[in-house]
Amino acid sequence: MEKITSLAKRRGFVFQSSEIYGDQNGAWDYGPLGIELKNRIAGAWWKEMTQLHDNIVGLDAAILMHPRTWEASGHVENFTDPLVDCKKCKSRFRADMIPEENLSAKKCPDCAGELTDTRKFNLMFKSNIGPAEDTASIIYLRPETAQGIYVNYKNIIQSNRMKIPFGIAQIGKAFRNEIVTKNFIFRTCEFEQMEMQYFVKPGTDEIEFNEWKKQRWAYYEKLGVKMDHLRWHQHGPDELAHYAKDAYDIQYLFPMGWRELEGVHNRTDYDLGRHSEYSGKDMQYIDQDNNNERYTPYIIETSAGLTRNVLMILCDAYDEEKVADKGDADDIRTVLRFHPNLAPITVAVLPLMKKDGLAEMAQDIRKELQEDYATDYDQAGAIGRRYRRQDEAGTPFCVTVDYQSKEDGTVTLRFRDSMEQIRVPKAELAMKLRQEIKGYKRIK
Ligand code: ATP
Repeated sequence: MEKITSLAKRRGFVFQSSEIYGDQNGAWDYGPLGIELKNRIAGAWWKEMTQLHDNIVGLDAAILMHPRTWEASGHVENFTDPLVDCKKCKSRFRADMIPEENLSAKKCPDCAGELTDTRKFNLMFKSNIGPAEDTASIIYLRPETAQGIYVNYKNIIQSNRMKIPFGIAQIGKAFRNEIVTKNFIFRTCEFEQMEMQYFVKPGTDEIEFNEWKKQRWAYYEKLGVKMDHLRWHQHGPDELAHYAKDAYDIQYLFPMGWRELEGVHNRTDYDLGRHSEYSGKDMQYIDQDNNNERYTPYIIETSAGLTRNVLMILCDAYDEEKVADKGDADDIRTVLRFHPNLAPITVAVLPLMKKDGLAEMAQDIRKELQEDYATDYDQAGAIGRRYRRQDEAGTPFCVTVDYQSKEDGTVTLRFRDSMEQIRVPKAELAMKLRQEIKGYKRIK
């Protein structure tokens, strides 16, 4: 993880928030390559959900919601983690994350000092809206995006004439006052989620739940993720949320071990039932195709962390490889093997030399490719070093313009994964890239 964190900083994927003031714990900034990667991951998910499903539509709800929302959802009462402090070294721990023997002996896992009793700690960030700091003005930063979907479900049925089963997808920020934030961007206080809530008729929920499990698995396969690094984890009775009938996590084998990447949950009619109770509004669905039958839909949720997906994709793509392309048998190159659809830069254009018109020719090629691809241009330093820089940024294709290009109009196309180089006529470059991206198969 240290290597990935350091590469992420060095190459401008992710920086610590407010670094010049000594960092803000639990918050991170996405640099030029990081925001491109994050946008592409979000784009892939959004396409999967909305473009490829006729019955799923998008939403972008506000972060600030009526405080009653969080009473209805159960977050005010239940969204807590068990917390213990060490009286000696002042470290703070989630009680469910330290060894049982330390907890029962009240012994700090770091310094063996005495631990406090376990107490409940609500993870919601609370603030005040308006000038008066009284209880009437309390507002929460949303701890999940899902509730914005539930409170809009009737609006969307009416405005978009949706019929059950249908889904609503949303990507957005969520905030949790996490007790322990470590492992880089894995668990942070400010993060982004990609959630899709699927409204189904009670009785069909188990079939739909299994269908969504299948679809989410296939999605990661399509992204080109190492499938032996993914597994299912079913929530046992002590893990299952109070509203859930069944819940599975997709876990990824991160450098620190298997951890949750995404949850697929059968949330029953709990959420809509509670919002109906707390708002006094009828949240039932009226099935006009079926004698106006009324029922409160069940909800199948697929809830993924976008920023956690960024970490997963970085870990999954990271590779170090022994290469001898520069004559040294022990030379190691660092390469990010992103799928070309996710890579922050798709193609880098490099003139072999700055002089003799090669730079101009390379810039013209870049201009032509720019309309369709995320490009980079680099003319600084030896060509081998420039390739390595692009490998580290995860750029799948490099185009090199050399003296032969001036003579016969061909350029070198270099592939990141195999380091293979072929010559391609300049005029066929865009088409060749399109083919390579479409037919991309990860080789390592
Ligand atoms: P955990 O048990 O890890 O705290 P959770 O089960 O509370 O997570 P959910 O509420 O199901 O998580 O949230 C859905 C997804 O949102 C998670 O699978 C994860 O990818 C992401 N997520 C949740 N909390 C955080 C966080 N603090 N930082 C980054 N991503 C998060």
